[in-house]
Amino acid sequence: MKLSSATFVLASIATSVNAFAPSLTSSKSSTALNLILQKTTGQSPLDPSVISKYDSLAYPDGKVLAEYVWVDADGNTRSKTRTLDASKAESVNSLPKWNFDGSSTGQAPGDDSEVILRPCRIFKDPFRPRSDTLDNILVMCDTWTPAGEPLETNARAVAEKAFDGHDDEEIWFGMEQEFTLFNLDERTPLGWPEGGMPSRPQGPYYCSVGPENSFGRHITDALYKACLYAGIDISGTNGEVMPGQQEYQVGPCVGIDAGDQLTMSRYILQRVCEDFQVYCTLHPKPIVDGDWNGAGMHTNVSTKKMREEGGLKVIKEAIYKLGAKHQEHIAVYGTGNELRLTGLHETASINQFCFGVANRGASIRIGRDTEAEGKGYFEDRRPASNADPYVVSGKIMSTIMEDVEPEVIVPMDKSEA
Ligand code: ADP
Ligand code: MN
Ligand code: MN
Ligand code: MN
Repeated sequence: MKLSSATFVLASIATSVNAFAPSLTSSKSSTALNLILQKTTGQSPLDPSVISKYDSLAYPDGKVLAEYVWVDADGNTRSKTRTLDASKAESVNSLPKWNFDGSSTGQAPGDDSEVILRPCRIFKDPFRPRSDTLDNILVMCDTWTPAGEPLETNARAVAEKAFDGHDDEEIWFGMEQEFTLFNLDERTPLGWPEGGMPSRPQGPYYCSVGPENSFGRHITDALYKACLYAGIDISGTNGEVMPGQQEYQVGPCVGIDAGDQLTMSRYILQRVCEDFQVYCTLHPKPIVDGDWNGAGMHTNVSTKKMREEGGLKVIKEAIYKLGAKHQEHIAVYGTGNELRLTGLHETASINQFCFGVANRGASIRIGRDTEAEGKGYFEDRRPASNADPYVVSGKIMSTIMEDVEPEVIVPMDKSEA
């Protein structure tokens, strides 16, 4: 999953091609079919009976496998496994710290290459289920120098500071993760003809059904089950506006847990795509030419006061504070976001902050229910799909907790605040 590189952004795509779905009728043998599937629809070519032969082997008594996961210098996840006594795997405090070669991930110099992994959050490992009473685990870690300093790429440590001392606010985040699936050529979105575009424009694909509209549902469904099993608060999924693009939501999660859960869900997404042999990108504008929606990470936010009577006033004050720091937020809301925030395709312009009720062309949207009830939450629609959830949640927290009297901002399509 490439987050920052734009090499796969299609510079140009030949104009409309009539063939919409690839034809499989010409392939007679299963080997040929496998090759085509691998290239065009992302079906896994692995034989399930081969895998199950190893999966069914019993684990030794009292031992579990712990997959330590961390964020690398490019914002992608990496992981490695170790065997632990089950008693050590019961809580993050009993889990040992570990290390990796930071010179191989661009996170440390070769002459002092050790990076320390600090366990922060445990999930169940959906890729190594077992039939005894123990669980293998995924461990979300952050990254430190041997001297005890957080790495520059340790956004979690920064976010933790923003949340520190604010437990009473009970801040919740619900993050909508959009992602785009490609064939392994990294150029052809699922459901698109090779080298061309779908013959029909956007319209039928959002929340769609049918083989001519929905592409990659099996991947999103696998991700959904795997996240639920892991203990991630995945709250839903839907097909997106651009064919081959999908979304899942995580939350509401409290404070720093939003970053932990969303980051681990991205790891799981990447692992599921590995199984299905489909390329997944979180780039915010994977197809730049033509009329195709980009991908975001809408971030829904509420504090306890916003969810209580009189909350709408607290929400508006938070929005005014966010508006005053628009450019600061844009600067940390993901790379390539300028390609997405154009003012078209359900986005607001990157240069102009605006908010509105039920308006999907706003930087920040207040839902109709929240306005009607006078309390609830707001949605920051600006973060790109490749934004770091620790950075976004921490930045929102520190901005809305500032003790300043914000200047009132008039909502879109209205003359009064
Ligand atoms: P949209 O209508 O923008 O597509 P979604 O249904 O995709 O919204 O996502 C909304 C997200 O907001 C979900 O993850 C949901 O759990 C979360 N959410 C709901 N209520 C709150 C709240 N009070 N505070 C923060 N997040 C919330
Ligand atoms: Mn959504
Ligand atoms: Mn969406
Ligand atoms: Mn949304």
